[in-house]
Amino acid sequence: MTETEDELQIEIPQEQPSSARTCAGCGKAGDRHAFLRVVLADDGSLVLDLQRSSFGRGANVHLDPACVRRGLRGGFARAFHAEIVTTVGQVREMGQLAVERRLRGLLVAAWRKRVLAVGADAVRELASHGPNVRAVVANDAGSIAKERFVLEMVTNGAVLIAFRRGELGALLGRPEVSVCATSDVRIAQELDRLLALQMLFSSLSTNNESA
Ligand SMILES: [Zn+2]
Repeated sequence: MTETEDELQIEIPQEQPSSARTCAGCGKAGDRHAFLRVVLADDGSLVLDLQRSSFGRGANVHLDPACVRRGLRGGFARAFHAEIVTTVGQVREMGQLAVERRLRGLLVAAWRKRVLAVGADAVRELASHGPNVRAVVANDAGSIAKERFVLEMVTNGAVLIAFRRGELGALLGRPEVSVCATSDVRIAQELDRLLALQMLFSSLSTNNESA
């Protein structure tokens, strides 16, 4: 390492303790897992960093629609010292697409790791073994969505509803898939986070954008 690099490193301002973050909406601190990270693009728009891995200047906001709205009304501008051109509707649309993209990646990863139960029989069997199962149910799953093992998982907040049967099938090498599930701990944690994000973005409806 050259001396110049060394000096630069020393001049980097001290970050907050590694797990602590502050919400650009309400200003309260919290653990990083409680937050959505956003990054500022050159054009003044916000980019959602679902995996917290993007380079660039970041800000954090609670997974709470009220905090996102407050952030867009001025909190992000203060955090970035820049004008922000992104709207609530854009965050919702970007967010929903990003959740679907991440979900596709997770399901394919689970499928390749052979930790994904696919189809109603396999998921029913998996769900009967323990409480740590997370499922993805297709939007058009039909009667399967009303079966008791699915309803119980819905009650426990263990179900993400996404995609159509044909889309899920295309990911998993079958014509159609109504439901799939995993008990893999790491993937289940990611699915829990995606569920929280999905709820956040879907609650950012545009009809009260000015609120
Ligand atoms: Zn907040």
